[in-house]
Amino acid sequence: MNEISLEVTTAIQSALMASELCRKVQQELIGQVSFIKSDRSPVTIADYGSQAIICKLINDRFPEDVIIAEEDSGELRNPANTRILEQVTRYVNEIMPESSSAEVCDWIDVSSQHPKDRFWAVDPIDGTKGFLRGDQYAIALALVEGGVVKLGLLACPNLHVDINYPDGPRGCLFVGLRGKGAVQLDRWGKHKTPLSVSKISDPSEAFFTESVEMDHADHELHERVARKLNITKPPLRVDSQVKYGLVARGEAILYLRIPALSERTYKEKVWDHAAGTIITEEAGGKITDAHGKPLDFSCGIKMVNNYGIVVSNGILHDAVLKALHPLPVAS
Ligand code: AMP
Ligand code: MG
Repeated sequence: MNEISLEVTTAIQSALMASELCRKVQQELIGQVSFIKSDRSPVTIADYGSQAIICKLINDRFPEDVIIAEEDSGELRNPANTRILEQVTRYVNEIMPESSSAEVCDWIDVSSQHPKDRFWAVDPIDGTKGFLRGDQYAIALALVEGGVVKLGLLACPNLHVDINYPDGPRGCLFVGLRGKGAVQLDRWGKHKTPLSVSKISDPSEAFFTESVEMDHADHELHERVARKLNITKPPLRVDSQVKYGLVARGEAILYLRIPALSERTYKEKVWDHAAGTIITEEAGGKITDAHGKPLDFSCGIKMVNNYGIVVSNGILHDAVLKALHPLPVAS
């Protein structure tokens, strides 16, 4: 390892602990305890528990570091939600014994809204809608320094370990380290295998991937682009940054994310892409926005300098950008 090895071990430990909590909640409580935030997106007790664990571990080891994470404890501290807070605390206790509800709320609120030059971007559950459906989701952590992602992790508790055995064991951890490559580990953080994108240059035999949710991406536009590229297989519709993992390990050659027609002004969030990008890049892939611009992680929570996301195996990238034109933009 290199000079950021303590960051790597801390990130791996927190991602594995958080994914254990999420796995238990999904098995035991699916659909039961979620509520809708002011931006209409859902949040579950697993989002809170996962964020508490990750923020606690990172903050203990790197107290000077800023953590930008998706949730805050505002709703949990509301007396009307005492029962939900108790459940969050119970699940956190299974992973970190003797944690109190007050501590759990304080750990969640270690998260700040104001990134510094060096910060951690954390999505405690990316793809909460997938999590609630019992589908794919990811726990995402990235370390960003000077606008450059240095380290990224995606824990994907429901993802099959081996494409050749889609009904086989599930649970993967992807780790990307700048300049050092990307690897897949199993759900216990063992059995390291290097990741590399597909070298296929003939798209007719390959898959592309996109969101399940229709308001997160323009499925019709993606279909037209896929047709222009001669992609004949139906899209792999998958929730969360698991899609970056699919490109990184060669199961898809392309991940497209152009804002949906009704959401053309949507700005992507840093925690939804920082971890995924470094993993796919270090596996040999290429990532830009829909204009071909590099992703800019230096402008706060919202990626205001980018429009859409294009993730490819590299070989295909220029052809995809060409096929996207004329690009529909916000009117
Ligand atoms: P996915 O599972 O790939 O569809 O992405 C899930 C993420 O989409 C969530 O973490 C949200 O932050 C993000 N999201 C929410 N609304 C939108 C939107 N209108 N367009 C694109 N992404 C969105
Ligand atoms: Mg997310």
